[in-house]
Amino acid sequence: MITDATCTFCGCVCDDIEITVEDNHITDAKRACALGQSWFYGHVADGRPDCLVAGQPASVAEGVERAARILIDARYPIVYGLSDTTSEAQRVAVAIGDAIAGTVDTSTSASHGPSGMSFHGVGEVTCTLGEIANRGDLIIVWGGNPAESHPRHFSKYSLMPKGMFVPNGRKDRTAIGVDVRKTETAEAMDLLFQIKPGSDFEALWTLRALAKGIDVDPDQVQRETGIELVRWQDLMARMKAAKFGVILFGMGLTMTRGKHLNSDALLSLARDMNAFTRFVVAPMRGHGNVTGADNVVTWQTGYPFGVNMSRGYPRFNPGEYTTSDTLARGEADAALLVACDAKANFSQPARERLTSIPYITLDPKDTPTTRHAAVAFTTATYGINTPGTVYRMDDVPIVLRPALTSTHPTDFDVLSAILRRVTELKK
Ligand code: SF4
Repeated sequence: MITDATCTFCGCVCDDIEITVEDNHITDAKRACALGQSWFYGHVADGRPDCLVAGQPASVAEGVERAARILIDARYPIVYGLSDTTSEAQRVAVAIGDAIAGTVDTSTSASHGPSGMSFHGVGEVTCTLGEIANRGDLIIVWGGNPAESHPRHFSKYSLMPKGMFVPNGRKDRTAIGVDVRKTETAEAMDLLFQIKPGSDFEALWTLRALAKGIDVDPDQVQRETGIELVRWQDLMARMKAAKFGVILFGMGLTMTRGKHLNSDALLSLARDMNAFTRFVVAPMRGHGNVTGADNVVTWQTGYPFGVNMSRGYPRFNPGEYTTSDTLARGEADAALLVACDAKANFSQPARERLTSIPYITLDPKDTPTTRHAAVAFTTATYGINTPGTVYRMDDVPIVLRPALTSTHPTDFDVLSAILRRVTELKK
């Protein structure tokens, strides 16, 4: 039995799971939600070779040699993924990007990339999930559906827990949803603001204006947001009256019309509110260690994703150096894909380009992306098989306690071997 094991399925990174292992199989995962249970129970060794080169079984050493040569022979090599592996492995992947003068990007560019840009531009008034659990008395969920995507967020952190300053748990909290549709999360809210699709920017600027006491036109507000001004005024009154307000936001805000201008407006609103009361804002991050990817890439390059190192120093330009773009424009000519199924997520032109260039994958699972790789490493699953560090969505580092051994190498080991070989070949 492994106590305090960590589930790395979503950004909550619950580290209170009790796992029972029998015969090298996970037979119980206490406290895990349905998604977490499928993550743990779905983990079965499938007997695939550690490495395939051009679809044929090969040794890891042969795979490393081929991978290193693909990367150093390329004119525009890219490193992508990184959100479902340890921060130790992420660090090595960024070093490879540096050694090959390549472009390093993570799945953040396809999810919370606009938030990453806003963190640079506006800043983030934030706190840990523990503070939310202990203090949050007004919880606003904007453009996200954590009831389905992060099932334990409400029970562990944001709605239900009894905290130091909210001793009655849910009874001490007001929950407000802002979304274009009624989701399962909306059911858990006290109030729902069902805004017009694509009107997050207008809604947020309405609230910013109300916070500052600026007159706004009621007809225009209703026309543009689909919500009467009086309701926005009521929301602002509740926000000002809260002792500790929290805005949790998802991709319904960041990946719809307005993108980083939406997240700029939301982060600015949270900052504005601190003139009246304590208010924080936090993105709902999806992958288990996507927050670690942002942290590691930022430590090493100064930027969170979409970083080009072809000139020997990092340059950041979303849209230019982000992977879906470098592929779709036919620029990337080799790729190192770490723990991601790029073919499942990218546009048709990007997928076609990926199919036409040599690429290397590291993944515990067999996916459409790994099946067409020039070199496909089957690696151990982080958290279940391998120790290391991941970052919870609130930037708190969590130590992994693996439950099972694996015969497959870890991402860290394979990436370290590729880095060594690339460095030797570059001399
Ligand atoms: S909420 Fe997320 S991290 Fe927690 S058990 Fe469920 S899937 Fe795993």
